[in-house]
This record gives sequence, C-alpha cells and structure tokens, in this order.
Amino acid sequence: MGIAVYPGSFDPVTFGHLDIVERGAKVFDKVIVAIGKNRAKSSLFSIDERLELLQTVTSNFPNVEVDSFNGLLVDYMKSKQANTIIKGLRAISDFEYELQMASINKKLDDSIETFFMMTNNKYSYLSSSIVKDIAKYGATVSDLVPLVVEDALRKKFKNGNSF
Ligand code: ADP
Repeated sequence: MGIAVYPGSFDPVTFGHLDIVERGAKVFDKVIVAIGKNRAKSSLFSIDERLELLQTVTSNFPNVEVDSFNGLLVDYMKSKQANTIIKGLRAISDFEYELQMASINKKLDDSIETFFMMTNNKYSYLSSSIVKDIAKYGATVSDLVPLVVEDALRKKFKNGNSF
C-alpha cells in the first residue's frame, strides 16, 4: 500500500496516537509519523523532545519512521514519495476540520489520498491536551501515555512549566 504519513503535533504522543500508528503500520509498507513544525498551537514539548519520545515509543515497529516537517504537508509528502495521509477520527467534532483538511490537500495535490482510521473505543476521549491538563495537577496518566512520556510530563511540570 505504499508510504503513508501520519501528521500531527504529538505534544506529547499518547496511547491513542500509538494505536493508530500500530494499525497503520499493518496496512502500509511504511508509516512516517511527522510532527508539523508550523502549527500555531503553543506546545509544552520542543520538537526535539517530541521526536525523541516518538522514536522511543515506536522503536518496536520496523516500518515506522519519525520525522518533522516545515511548510505544506503535500510538499513534504512529495519529498518522501508518500501518497497517503493517515488521520485518526475520535468524534464528530473531528470530522468537520478533517474534511476541510482532506479537501484542501486533495486540491493542492490530486494524487494524495487521506485515509481515516476510527479511534479505538478505549481512547475516544483521549487527546494530548487532556493528558497535559491532568498531568499538570499531578494526577496519574499511566493509562493514557507510555511510561517515558509520563516521566517526561512529570519532569516538565516539576520545573514549573505551563503551556
Ligand atoms: P491531539 O493534540 O488532539 O492529540 P494531534 O495533532 O497530536 O492532536 O493528533 C494527530 C492525529 O492523531 C490526528 O489525526 C488526530 O485525530 C489523531 N488522534 C489523536 N488522538 C487520537 C485518539 N485518541 N484516537 C485516534 N486518533 C487520535
């Protein structure tokens, strides 16, 4: 099925993201998890920190790579010879934005398809923002993120960071 790119902020990576990576890796020859650098969202983790966390938690998938990109996703995809975008859908609220993104990407490059995967029911409520909100107040996030991410969150908030 060729090369797919799974774009996002991954600030930080959660079990919801990992579930999509794992399922995507079974469908595509290669999946590139790509952190978009130019999103307006303010982030808790730097690009390098997010890359390192993603690398650690995806190292057991031989056909998954981790990267970051600037500029338009379609241009990045061309440079990687990828023709499919993977997106996860959690709720109806994701739909409107994702439809808009898929339509504009198709308009920018007609050869690109967006491939939507439904969230695993277990993770339908899970987002990086929710994880940060909870971790900030010291509650356990061990059911929501891998251990390395939990540790990284604890360190960030111990040092008085906010986002
Ligand atoms: P968020 O901050 O909302 O977690 P990201 O930009 O990091 O968002 O998300 C990247 C991609 O992962 C998006 O396609 C998003 O829909 C998907 N995603 C995020 N969380 C989940 C989840 N719990 N289940 C399925 N897909 C998810």
